[in-house]
Amino acid sequence: PGKLVPARPVQVLLVKDDHTFELDEAALSRILLAEEVRDREVVAISVAGAFRKGKSFLMDFMLRYMYNHASETWLGDADAPLTGFSWRGGSERETTGIQIWSEVFLVDKPDGRKVAVLLMDTQGTFDSQSTLRDSATVFALSTMISSMQVYNISQNVQEDDLQHLQLFTEYGRLAMEETFLKPFQSMIFLVRDWSFPYEFPYGQEGGMKFLEKRLKVKNQHEELQNVRKHIHSCFTNISCFLMPHPGLKVATNPLFDGRITEIDGDFLNNLKVLVPWLLSPRNIDVKEINGSKITCRGLVEYFKAYIKIYQG
Ligand code: GDP
Ligand code: MG
Repeated sequence: PGKLVPARPVQVLLVKDDHTFELDEAALSRILLAEEVRDREVVAISVAGAFRKGKSFLMDFMLRYMYNHASETWLGDADAPLTGFSWRGGSERETTGIQIWSEVFLVDKPDGRKVAVLLMDTQGTFDSQSTLRDSATVFALSTMISSMQVYNISQNVQEDDLQHLQLFTEYGRLAMEETFLKPFQSMIFLVRDWSFPYEFPYGQEGGMKFLEKRLKVKNQHEELQNVRKHIHSCFTNISCFLMPHPGLKVATNPLFDGRITEIDGDFLNNLKVLVPWLLSPRNIDVKEINGSKITCRGLVEYFKAYIKIYQG
């Protein structure tokens, strides 16, 4: 009510060309220390992964769900262009860093608690040794400050996706205090353009079966076993969702504006399952650090403390 500036993505963490990190503390504080939200417990949802794999496109559907208050018809007008985080085709590189949505959503959990929901869009480059380190830091930071990390990957869970994940979480774990609890909360492997539905069906159940098979520690080379053990030791919950390809208009038409009439039905049907599964008031979890629930105000302090570690 009475908002002067329309909601938008705000770059709060930027990795510069010289590989230094810049935290926009003022922007972060403007958003998380706003009076309505600062003392609320925070649910922080992050989507992370390489460029041009449909992260922002997905986030914009997450925004629609939030703005339509989780109603049955949250997908909205079939001909409306998709807006929010900027998503686009082409292969040009974008900045590495973290963007957050300037509006923090207040949501009533079924148990009567009102929580604040923060959406984060995180990008890495993964294309050279130096940028891999940058990406690892961005991924680590976003995992440390989120209650749910959605790891967006294309087509399959490859060995290097797991190795990257190990590197990322190792960066994060080293930076955190010793604790007997697992350092991170939920990790969701989101596989885009899944093309073997006859082996493992789309959705969460097929995803879990597929992931179990991919992460099984058995008769493998020791290094691969360690990657898997490490991932299990870092997260309280690990799950997986297999998404179908959205269709050629989404993937290749430069004039596509995100309207749902041009998106494949299979994709939309799974989107209608995925987004409420991630974001419904019943399913969202408050951010915890060492077993304590964190407010928006607390999250700002953690963000500042964590970034200092990497600024060395
Ligand atoms: P980001 O860099 O990961 O945020 O990717 P974007 O959301 O900007 O999307 C990059 C391009 O991929 C756009 O042209 C989208 O239309 C397209 N796209 C979005 N979702 C998918 C998907 O699930 N599969 C494929 N193949 N393309 C997608
Ligand atoms: Mg993006």
